[in-house]
Amino acid sequence: MDKNKVWYYEKLSAKVLQSLKGNNIEAFYCKTGKETREKILSLIPEGASVGLAGSVTLKEVGILDELMKGNYKLYNQYLPDLSKEESLKIRREGVSAGYFLSGTNAVTLNGELVNISGMGNKIAGLCYGKKVVIVCGVNKIVKDIKEGIDRTRNLSTPMNAKRLDFNTPCRETGFCDYGLCRAPEFDRMCNQLLIIEGEREKGRVTMILVGEELGF
Ligand code: SF4
Repeated sequence: MDKNKVWYYEKLSAKVLQSLKGNNIEAFYCKTGKETREKILSLIPEGASVGLAGSVTLKEVGILDELMKGNYKLYNQYLPDLSKEESLKIRREGVSAGYFLSGTNAVTLNGELVNISGMGNKIAGLCYGKKVVIVCGVNKIVKDIKEGIDRTRNLSTPMNAKRLDFNTPCRETGFCDYGLCRAPEFDRMCNQLLIIEGEREKGRVTMILVGEELGF
């Protein structure tokens, strides 16, 4: 990464980490994907059950491979050849697992997290999972909630719609057409919007900010 970009992201990250801690969210900074994997594995004890939210970031840091190789009970709804019913059952079980692992769509300078979900398991896991570990690349830092929602609808979701080949207006245009995008005509991907402003229970939610551009 360009050294000026590194400087810029480090400045923003310092502010975000301080804000997250002020919101009662545990927060760590990892420079690389490798450091991130090690940090996640230090937080999740062997033998634990782990639920997942769909996240390109988690794939990119390589933690899914580590969990699949290791001694964990992984609720993985992305295994090939699962029926729709099996996938839904795994998502429901994953939300109640000992640990819930997720990305986030955006984090603000004030330490708020913005998340949009199509089916709701991500939202449920983030809100009510027993222990939640969130991984976020520095490219997802935004000024405020408004910018976070805009980033989610006009950047992350169009790319995810393309990646997953969903029938949404943004899959065709690259930007959100909120008014047009309604079921059953479209497979709307943004059905729930969650803003996390803070956490009550100390230690329930941990966020790892990674000094790399990750995910969408
Ligand atoms: S509301 Fe529809 S068009 Fe807008 S970002 Fe979400 S899926 Fe795409």
